Amino acid sequence: MSFSVQDATLVVVDGSEWKILLTVDNAGINYQSPPIEYQETKIFPFDQVTQAVRLQVATIRELNNTYRLYLPLERRSTIIGCFIADFPQNRVSKQFKAKDFSFLGVLLASELSTSMTDAIIQDKHSSWRIAERELKIRQHEQHSLQKQLQALHDISFRLWRADSLNSMLFTAVDEAKKQLNIDRMAIFLFKPGNRMQGTYGTDVHGNTVNEHYFETEIPDLWFSVNPLQKNEEYLAIEENTPLYHNLMVVGFGWSAYITLWDEDTPIGWIACDNLLSGMPLPTHLHQLLKQFAFIVSQHLVRRQAEEKLIQLNTELELRVAERTQALQQANEKLEKVSREDSLTQVANRRQFDERFFDEWRRAERHSLPISLLIIDVDHFKDYNDSFGHAAGDQCLKMIAATLAPLERRAGALFARYGGEEFVLLLPGQDQHAAQYAAERALEAIRELALPRRTQNSDTTDIVTISIGGCTLTPSDNNSADTFFKLADNALYEAKSCGRNQLFMNNYINDFNHELLP
Ligand code: GH3
Ligand code: MG
Ligand code: MG
Repeated sequence: MSFSVQDATLVVVDGSEWKILLTVDNAGINYQSPPIEYQETKIFPFDQVTQAVRLQVATIRELNNTYRLYLPLERRSTIIGCFIADFPQNRVSKQFKAKDFSFLGVLLASELSTSMTDAIIQDKHSSWRIAERELKIRQHEQHSLQKQLQALHDISFRLWRADSLNSMLFTAVDEAKKQLNIDRMAIFLFKPGNRMQGTYGTDVHGNTVNEHYFETEIPDLWFSVNPLQKNEEYLAIEENTPLYHNLMVVGFGWSAYITLWDEDTPIGWIACDNLLSGMPLPTHLHQLLKQFAFIVSQHLVRRQAEEKLIQLNTELELRVAERTQALQQANEKLEKVSREDSLTQVANRRQFDERFFDEWRRAERHSLPISLLIIDVDHFKDYNDSFGHAAGDQCLKMIAATLAPLERRAGALFARYGGEEFVLLLPGQDQHAAQYAAERALEAIRELALPRRTQNSDTTDIVTISIGGCTLTPSDNNSADTFFKLADNALYEAKSCGRNQLFMNNYINDFNHELLP
């Protein structure tokens, strides 16, 4: 105002650039904050500014109808800027000398440098404060992230330690609530036919409860819009939404559903909400829940595979046991059949042959007597001829059924030797015992009194048997073979003597070879 300044510009050096800090025009003074870039114009040539600055002294130039002052601003040999002012050409301004403004230059430079330094310090301070605050936030975030990672690790470890699929699912729900600070959580598994089944969940009081009973069609709600989209990160979150328990609305709040995956197949859901505390959903929980769901998915898939394998193994073992038992039974049956006569169900020739030699050797070892009776049905050919072969079979069955139970002493063996011939082996039995057994047999068949037609004069009207017997104590003078032959000879004798009787070859130790045929 003192100098009637019309227009003025204060240019300052900012690093390597010139910037306009202030302009004056007839409207008043305009501070530029932050300073604006200096634009060179025709009426405001840049080289004149630099020239004035380089000269380090104030200069006044005459323009069309104004005077222009270039006042370089410098402090302690440092260029701060330049003040440029235009005055109208008049009587007063004609008197101005450039050096009149020197003092103004010193004053301006000093003021500017002080306030600019202040501003820099201020700036530095505030940026420090921001950095400090940022650092604290970062530290806090890092700390809580560390805690959450530790929590996830803890949970994963516990899931790994769980001794069954169910205990794993219980642990997942229970630990997630405690360690991740979630109000309520539930794990559902998908089933065929668009259905889902509960595993473990949280009741309205916050207790972890068994919810295996819960099974329903997958509900058609906001969270089930896209559960099958092949996105392993699938996480659905809704604020101010109804919260459910057993499909009933129990409150309002945020609710999150995270899909569990087996590779790219969705296998279930983890549901969370804030029913109990009503606390807002912390953003870091998004990532954490996804991580948690990933861990649970992995454990779930592994456990399911393991349990399936165990079940398969048990089934296999059961099947093997069943088969083994069936095979054993079949073997036993086969063994029995192979040693049994199919018509009469008494021991067969094979069994007799085995036992015969075994018992002979045993008697030999212990120097014990052994007796053998050979039993033959009398005139059985006639029987067949008169009644037919089938009746003959029935007759043989009845004879076997009558004779088999007679002898019950240990080691005794009654067998069908072949055709209408039977044998009774009596290990350890002397000739008296053998004789007694034979008499009982003859009598039993007589008592059975199976009728028959008489064709020959010497046949009776009932079925009879003849028995040849022998008792020996094995020695160097005899053998199993001669033992059998002696009994067979005795049978021949019984037949010759008129049948329906016993004949014993009672050579105990001194065997007479002449008696052999
Ligand atoms: P003997 O008194 O001399 O012993 O006269 P036999 O007629 O009994 O003797 P033979 O050896 O001449 O005849 C035995 C008959 O036994 C012949 C055969 O048809 C019959 N036979 C053998 N095995 C069976 C069988 O399994 N079933 C039937 N129905 N008959 C049989
Ligand atoms: Mg015969
Ligand atoms: Mg016969």
